[in-house]
Amino acid sequence: MDLDTVTVRVGEAESAVNITVYRNLLSDVSPYFRGAFEGSFVEATDRFISLTDVTEHTFRMFLQWVHTQVYEHSSGATIPSPAILLHGSTTKNAGNTTTGPVEVQPPHPTQSVPDAETLPDATSALDELDGHQKRWDVNEIEGLCSENSELINGYRLSLLSFLRLYVFADKYNVPQLRDDVLTALTAQSISWCWWPDIERELMESAYAALPSSSKFIRLLVLSTAYCWLSQPGTSSATKMRAMKEMNEEFAFEVMVVQNQRLKDGESLEGMPSEGMPFWLEEAMPDSCTLHEHLARDAAKCRERICDQPYIFTGLIEMCAQDALSMAKESDEG
Ligand SMILES: [Zn+2]
Repeated sequence: MDLDTVTVRVGEAESAVNITVYRNLLSDVSPYFRGAFEGSFVEATDRFISLTDVTEHTFRMFLQWVHTQVYEHSSGATIPSPAILLHGSTTKNAGNTTTGPVEVQPPHPTQSVPDAETLPDATSALDELDGHQKRWDVNEIEGLCSENSELINGYRLSLLSFLRLYVFADKYNVPQLRDDVLTALTAQSISWCWWPDIERELMESAYAALPSSSKFIRLLVLSTAYCWLSQPGTSSATKMRAMKEMNEEFAFEVMVVQNQRLKDGESLEGMPSEGMPFWLEEAMPDSCTLHEHLARDAAKCRERICDQPYIFTGLIEMCAQDALSMAKESDEG
């Protein structure tokens, strides 16, 4: 192993912190960092890079993810219950179960590696639900949500955390992390029967930081069209209007999907079908629908989701923990 270290300065001016990281861990996952540290740029000679638009927390989440790639884990294959948004992880010995250093400084205390308590069935893909993965009961979750604004707020914050990680992966070109964030979010949504819908801060942050062709936005479009619009209660017109007021481009994309969906894959003679399946499960049988597969092809991707589920449960846990600490901060502030 190449033990060269580099210093990454994250955060803005006064609040910026230096984090020491093994250079090859960054280079292996990101052409951006490879270019910066292995080329003839000043970053390579100085072994220093400053990322002012990244928070320390997001960068440490990224490092934690890098860590799960490199070191073998034997556990942590279960998607946590939505209650994690209220109480945090039940994980003991957070951060102490790893087998090697990723960074020279100690890991952030709120980050954790799922432990053995959270179960051994690593045989099924997390986002495929072939009967092995527990699906949380929809009534149970609706019950939890309707009474619990804290849980809803936690969920909202955790989506923002997924988004920040994705934005980091977009900006600093970490293709596998982009795919992994979407796998984790898909797996969580399926398991919790709780898909993201329109929410102003999420929408505005997503469109401000990502190209509209981004797969993260695509996931929001699909889940809004397939799940939120179809829920009984408020009329579709009211919902469409709310969406249009929030973001016209998003509303347009959702309407396109909705329209394609009504065509249900039927094609006229000689014309290619522009339909979409009626059910989300068919439109998006697994998270590969949303992947770029730049780092791994589809077959290797499925294999990895099967063999290393802790990568994705780890992401879900991290985002939930991040949401909890954000909620705490806003309480205190
Ligand atoms: Zn894939």
